[in-house]
Order: sequence, then C-alpha cells, then structure tokens
Amino acid sequence: MRLYDSARRAVAPMAPTGPVAMYSCGITPYDAAHLGHAFVYLAFDVLTRRLRDDGHEVRVVRNVTDVDDDILRKARELGVHYLDLAARELATFERDMRLINLLPVYAEPRATGAIAEILTLIGRTFDEGIAYEVDGYVYFEVAKFPRFGQVSHETRARMVELAAEHGGRPDDPRKRDPLDFVLWQPSLEDEPAWESRWGAGRPGWHIECSALALRELGETLDVHGGGRDLAFPHHECEAAQSESVTGAPFVRHWMHVGLVGFDGTKMSKSLGNLVFVSELAGRSEPAAVRLALLAQHYRADWEWRDELLAAARSRLATWRSTLGGRESGVLDDVRAALDDDLDTPGALGAIDAAAHAGASVHAAAALLGVTL
Ligand SMILES: [Zn+2]
Repeated sequence: MRLYDSARRAVAPMAPTGPVAMYSCGITPYDAAHLGHAFVYLAFDVLTRRLRDDGHEVRVVRNVTDVDDDILRKARELGVHYLDLAARELATFERDMRLINLLPVYAEPRATGAIAEILTLIGRTFDEGIAYEVDGYVYFEVAKFPRFGQVSHETRARMVELAAEHGGRPDDPRKRDPLDFVLWQPSLEDEPAWESRWGAGRPGWHIECSALALRELGETLDVHGGGRDLAFPHHECEAAQSESVTGAPFVRHWMHVGLVGFDGTKMSKSLGNLVFVSELAGRSEPAAVRLALLAQHYRADWEWRDELLAAARSRLATWRSTLGGRESGVLDDVRAALDDDLDTPGALGAIDAAAHAGASVHAAAALLGVTL
C-alpha cells in the first residue's frame, strides 16, 4: 500500500510489520459532530478495512477531548456539568458513526482519564529544560526543538497567524516566543482543576494526544492524523512534545483529510452552515450517505450538495441489481485502487464498470463497508 504523508509531502510505501498503530484525533463532545467529522473518521475506517483485508491487525485509537476551552464554555452557557454535556454529545456522535457503518475503534480514551500520564509527560519536558513555567502556566519552548515545522511546513509568519486563530495567544506576555504553546494552565474558578507541581490546573490542548498515543500505542505511530486544519498547530505541537521526550519518530504517515464545505464556504459551527449525518440518514438510507462520502477522495477539499445523495442512491440501486451476476476481478481492482493512496473514487469507478458489465459487485462493495 502507498499512502500520502504530509510531513514528507509525498505518497510513500506503507509496509507495517506488527499490529498497525493508528491514532485519529477525536472530537470535543460539546456540540453535534457534522459531515466534516464523519469524512475524517470514514477515511480512517476505509484504511482500517483494507489493512485488515490484507491480513494486518489494526489498532485505531480515537481520543475524546472532554476537557478544553470549548466544552467548558458551552457547559457554562448551558448551566450543565461539562461531563454530562460530554456524555450526551458522545452518545450522539457514536450513534451517527454507527449509522454510516464505521467499525468500532480499539480504544476511545478520554483526556480526563489521562491526567496522570499528561502530568508525567509534562514533567519530563520540564525536567529536560524544554518547558518553562510562569504564573502556573507551563509552556513548551519551541526554540528547543529545531524540527518545529516538520509536519505542517508553514512559514513562521503563517504559524503565528494560525496559532492566533486557534486560541494559541501569540501575544501572551509570559511567553519567550509567540509560538511557545501551553502544556498546563491554571483553571478558572468554575473550571475543573487537578493538582500538579505547578499548582492546580488543567491540560493544554495538544498534550493529551501525545500522552494518550504513548500510553495506548507506544512511541511511534504508523498512521496519525485528522482534519487538514489540525496540521498546525495541533499536530505540529504533538510531534514536538512527543519527539523531544522520546527521541523516537512520532509518526510514520501523517494523514490529513480534506475539509467539507457547504454553501460556498468551510462547514463550521461559528458560521452555522452545518450538515449532519443523522439528518441525511433521515432522508435516505445510511448506506447512501456512506457512498456519497466515498465518492470524494479523502485528501480533497469538497463541498456537500444534495445531488450527491441522489447520485449515491442510484449507484446503490445499480450495484444491488447485480446480485447473482458472474464473478469478476473487481475485488482486486478495488484493492488496487485503495492501495493507491486510498483512491475511493477510483474504487467506485471500478465497481460501476463491473456492475455495468453484469458482474456481481457485492464483495467489492463490502470491502468499502457498503452492504448491498
Ligand atoms: Zn490530537
């Protein structure tokens, strides 16, 4: 199999030897997950299915960020406990992912269940002089990590802009460098707090993924990723804090999934232009929703249109009509397409061609997680 790696900026062979260690950054359960989230987890799901089909054991870890600025703010607005909010939204998320036939993951660890590991990891960076503390805030010092930028390849000016957009506060006067990022921070009065050697507080955004990846999968991940917008700052910071402590490469293949737009712009909570899996699955059978998403290449940015659902429905009907058709080589064609950087549009094209030629395509569809 060949898979694109964002760090190398090239399609590169992927030949895992033992169990495949995959980590996909999960959701912050404070609001309903939209089609953009589903598209990310679907890409990991297709990769998992093909690797298993090829005889590999695959371990997918998908964390749950159940304590951060977003969930605490929303819980405050709603007047509910943040963990109750997390439980509710997580149940909705899991139902939606089951609707589009995502396989269960190996582990779904939560940030609040890893505070001990998070503090151990921060302690190691601190003791090695890679982090410093000011007023109860612990910052990672990017000047101590010369490879900073290896994942996202952004210019320094662009990194500062992106950090600001993602709440990284480059103008924070406590920082030695605007790009230094928070590992630990004091909690506000109504926020949850855990004891630490730097005072009571809570973790920064990036540290949980390093701590959980280390705990669940070890020092080096075969595949790690999420939405393309996580490359900087999130994944860049994860790589810096992980590699500076372990000395080992953190990730072999960085997998970044394209963003899904709607109405001419990126789907986002702040713009209110969200499309939800549950809503689409209410209008059409869920297999058509999955098929509509598979028609897009995972690395492309694209835009949702309702015609895509209609096209997927008619494709499903064509595929179903092949029941009892003759055997053909379509399953191998689908495998070859997936092995070429998860070319799902190519896989769908191969199945279409086989279906039009009267061959049965049920097994090939099943490899893509589409039950006919
Ligand atoms: Zn993450």
